[in-house]
Amino acid sequence: MYMPYLMLSYAAAALLMLVCSRVCAWSVPGLRGLNYLSWGFLLGLVSVLLIAARPFTPAWLTILVSNQLMAGFVLLVYCTAASILDAPMRFLPWGLAAQAAMLASLSYYTYAVPNLTARIVIACCVCALNALAAAVLLFRYKEPVLEPEVEPSLRSLTRVLAWLAVFIAAQNLARAILSVLYPSRDFLYLNLIQTAFTYIGMLMSAAAGGGLIWLALWMHRRDLHRLAQTDGLTGLLNRRAFEEILASDLRRRSGGDVVAVLLADIDHFKNVNDAWGHPAGDEVIRKVGWAMREELRPADVLARVGGEEFIVLLRDVSLEQAEEIGERLRRRIACLDGLPGKMQVTVSIGIAANHAVDTPDELLRRCDMAMYCSKQAGRNLVTAYSSFLGRSRAIAMESRVTARPA
Ligand code: GH3
Ligand code: MG
Ligand code: MG
Repeated sequence: MYMPYLMLSYAAAALLMLVCSRVCAWSVPGLRGLNYLSWGFLLGLVSVLLIAARPFTPAWLTILVSNQLMAGFVLLVYCTAASILDAPMRFLPWGLAAQAAMLASLSYYTYAVPNLTARIVIACCVCALNALAAAVLLFRYKEPVLEPEVEPSLRSLTRVLAWLAVFIAAQNLARAILSVLYPSRDFLYLNLIQTAFTYIGMLMSAAAGGGLIWLALWMHRRDLHRLAQTDGLTGLLNRRAFEEILASDLRRRSGGDVVAVLLADIDHFKNVNDAWGHPAGDEVIRKVGWAMREELRPADVLARVGGEEFIVLLRDVSLEQAEEIGERLRRRIACLDGLPGKMQVTVSIGIAANHAVDTPDELLRRCDMAMYCSKQAGRNLVTAYSSFLGRSRAIAMESRVTARPA
C-alpha cells in the first residue's frame, strides 16, 4: 500500500475528529477536557500529514517531529481523560520524559544507524505506554457519589474506555513485535502488517476520541444534575432530591418494610440571626448539617429542606431504633462546639414511620406534626408520631396545627 495515500485518508479522519471536538466544546460551554482532545487531534493531523510528505520532506521533520506529535497525541488523550474525570495528571512528567527519550533514540536510529524497524518499535512502545497510563487512570477512577439514587453511574462508561485504551496499547505492542518478525523494507510502500496496524490504530483513536467526548458530556450532565439536587449552603441534598428519593423508596418497599423519616428544626434560630448576624446563622446551619451527616449511616439520606430544617430518611429501622437515632442526634447537636461566639443550639425532632399504604406527603405531614409536638413540649426534644406518647400528643396537636395561619 502506497503510504502517503493511506496517511492522507487518516488525516481526513483526524480533521473530522478535530472539528467534532471543537463543535462539542463550542456548543456545550463548560465541558471539561475537550481542549486537550482538540490539541491531540491537531497533533495527530499534523503528524500524519508530515508522514505523508515523506517523499519531499527532510528526515528530522517527517520522522522525528511526526513521531513526537503522534506520541503527543496519545499523551493528550491521557490528559483529556484526567481532565474530564478531574483526576491529577500524575503520569504527565513520565510521559514527557518518555517523549524526550524517544526523540534521542529516534535521532540515533535515523542519523547514526538508520533502522526503520527500530524506529517503529520505539514509537509503538511510547504510544503503548501513554495508552496504558490512560487505561490505569480510567480503571482506577472512583466516583464521588453524592447519593446513588439520584446520580447516573459512570462506571460502565469509564470501564469501556479503559478497555479501549488497553486495546490501543496492545495493538501498539503487537505492531512492535510483528515489525521485528516481519520487517518492512520500504516505508513508502507499507507491507500488509503495517497497513493493517496503522488502519486499526486510526480506528481506535477515532473511537477513543468519540468515547471521550461522550464521557465529557456525561460528566457535564452529572455536574448539572448534582447542582440541581444540592443545597448550596451545606452541600447536602435539597428538598427536591429528598422527595424524589423518598417517593422511590416508598414505591419500592413492600408491606413489611419500614422506613422512618426524621425532621429536625433548630430551636429559636431567629434569635441566632438577630444576635449574631446572618453569616453566623449560615455557619450554624452548616455545622449542624455536617454534624448530623457524621452521626448518620451512609445509607441514611440527609437533606436540608428549609431555612433551618433538616430531614433524614432512615432505612430498615424500627420506630424505636429511629427514636434512638433521633435522641443521639439531639444530644450531639446540643453539645456541638465550634459555633460562632461559642453559642449552643438545640434542635426539636419529630419522627414518623411509614404505614403500608403511605404517600410521601402523608408521611411528611405526620413527621411535621411530631416535630411540632417537640416544639410545643418545650423544644430540644424528640417525638415519634406513632409511639403512644407521640401519637396522643400529635393527635392533640392536630387541630391546633391545622388551625395555624398559613
Ligand atoms: P422555632 O424554635 O419555633 O423553630 O423558632 P425559629 O426562630 O427557629 O423559627 P422561625 O421559623 O420563626 O425562624 C426561622 C428563621 O430562620 C427565620 C429565617 O430568618 C432564618 N433562616 C432561614 N433560612 C436561613 C438561612 O439560609 N440562613 C440564615 N442565616 N437564616 C435563615
Ligand atoms: Mg423552621
Ligand atoms: Mg426553628
